[in-house]
Amino acid sequence: MSTPTRIDLRSDTVTTPTPHMRAAMAEALVGDDVYGEDPTVNELQQETAALLGFEAGLFMPSGTMTNQVAIAVHTQRGQEVICAEGSHIYEWELGMMATFSGVVPRFVPAPVGVPDPAQVRRAVRHSIHQSPTGLIALENTHNKAGGTVLPHEVIVGIREVADAEGLPLHLDGARLMNAAAAQNVPARQIARYFDSVSLCLSKGLGAPVGSVLVGSKRFIASAHRYRKMMGGGMRQAGTLAAAGLIALREGPANLPGDHRRARELAETLVQAGYDVDLSTVQTNIVYATIQDAQAKVEGWAAQGLLASALDIDRVRFVLHYQIDDAMLQRAKEIVAGM
Ligand SMILES: *Cc1c(COP(=O)(O)O)cnc(C)c1O
Repeated sequence: MSTPTRIDLRSDTVTTPTPHMRAAMAEALVGDDVYGEDPTVNELQQETAALLGFEAGLFMPSGTMTNQVAIAVHTQRGQEVICAEGSHIYEWELGMMATFSGVVPRFVPAPVGVPDPAQVRRAVRHSIHQSPTGLIALENTHNKAGGTVLPHEVIVGIREVADAEGLPLHLDGARLMNAAAAQNVPARQIARYFDSVSLCLSKGLGAPVGSVLVGSKRFIASAHRYRKMMGGGMRQAGTLAAAGLIALREGPANLPGDHRRARELAETLVQAGYDVDLSTVQTNIVYATIQDAQAKVEGWAAQGLLASALDIDRVRFVLHYQIDDAMLQRAKEIVAGM
């Protein structure tokens, strides 16, 4: 008997580089990127900036670093960052906004990951008695809410608040390309409302490592210094950037398929009696509410299906390009108890 296939739906970070990425990595031109002399890193930064409609970009090892560097550039110590409840910049970035930038989050409610511009406006603080607001940060797609997409009018409304209050607006766009695919618009049509955007190459786009932060030339010049402070100066990083370029060019084409498979898996879970809010299944992530999530996940893992128990009663499945229809079929059979 052959070993059962391992169907890894714990995250879209678990993918391995494509053969095309491996070839590009082997051939990449490199130089010392801390001196700005790695041609492949420079190409990736310029191409990402152009794709998203910005002047400049900066390559970093992780999305946590691109977000936290952006926060450091935009804010001053003692300020608040307005963000949606459940935002990655706070929930999953280990308190870095406090330890590195000396700022604290102020959450606004975000049912299904979507904050209300009126509540963002009410959360802004300018009084001498309170920590002033330094930044508004949005997340699109919203990971913890289930990969949900920010509606266009919400982004426009929050941009208006930022302009009226004189505040910068950052986008944690780790999965911006998923949002663009779901809305069938170019990513720059979403990105244009923000002062800075952080894009992950190593999620659904499939690169082994890396994220790019984009913004104005002035913003990126400042980001360069904070990246170095965080230990993100990577020297001959062109080998990684080469894979990132392939991810940027070829990755987006896979996303509609990932979204369709996520939807199919969600529907199978519902048919099997699990509690899934189908309205939140808009991209490549599926959350199910399951009592004793850990035991359930272990049972499925024994059959070759890996998912994440992210809370005592929440299980997350994330689709990505290394899950084809045959693997999806097997995943559906396992969750349906077949
Ligand atoms: C994955 C992710 C990040 C970055 O995570 P790293 O593991 O540091 O690359 C940032 N924001 C969101 C919404 C994410 O899902």
